[in-house]
Amino acid sequence: MSKQIWPKKRKNINFSLFVLLALVVFVFILLVNAPKKNASQIPDIPFTHKTITNNEASRFLEKQILPIIKSDYNNQIPSIKIIIQQLEKMEKTKKIEIGIATTYRGDSLAATYPVPINNMIWLTFSAPRLMDYQNNMDKRVFNNLVTITTCHEALHLMNDPIFTQKLYKKHLSVEKMDQYRLNGEAMIWGLTIEKVINPLLAKNKLTIRPQETEAAQIYGRFGNDYKNPDWVNWIKNNRFQTNE
Ligand SMILES: [Zn+2]
Repeated sequence: MSKQIWPKKRKNINFSLFVLLALVVFVFILLVNAPKKNASQIPDIPFTHKTITNNEASRFLEKQILPIIKSDYNNQIPSIKIIIQQLEKMEKTKKIEIGIATTYRGDSLAATYPVPINNMIWLTFSAPRLMDYQNNMDKRVFNNLVTITTCHEALHLMNDPIFTQKLYKKHLSVEKMDQYRLNGEAMIWGLTIEKVINPLLAKNKLTIRPQETEAAQIYGRFGNDYKNPDWVNWIKNNRFQTNE
């Protein structure tokens, strides 16, 4: 009896060992063949919630952000060069003021808004959030994120009826203003994809965050038409948290 059971048991153990070994080999093959993770494939960077001083924020703008914008000025992508040139012109002629925020403003990286007191328009970068990204992201991905953010805000200033027709000065109802804002956002995201994100993707798709890559793919699916109701709806339901 025992002679019959023992070999059977041994056989079971061997089989278990075989399964275990096969599993180890299988996992090893999976790991070896796994695609190398690029920094841009990290879903998102968590908040650090740090607070910085005015001096720190100004230094960050001067030493980190503006040099990236200026370096892209020399970039070979003509559509980006034109946008940055126009932004510089607006700053020189005092149509806009570039500033930096010391605290978090939601998850947004930058915002453009009129300041009624001096009749100026402010383009403000969010220093703490940008610092989070800079500390956790591949340098090329970060540089492109700053470029996309800056160009997006500049495109608002140059093309969004809220600024070009000074709709913010008109006393429109909240509903009407919201509709203008949504259509403006759909338009500016469309232009950002056409003029900035698609050319950068064509250059090196690994240096663009998944959020922007996905938006570009969806925009393409909707015929690269910012007036397409499906695109407007997508913008409405997927408002970017990082850019305004
Ligand atoms: Zn926007």
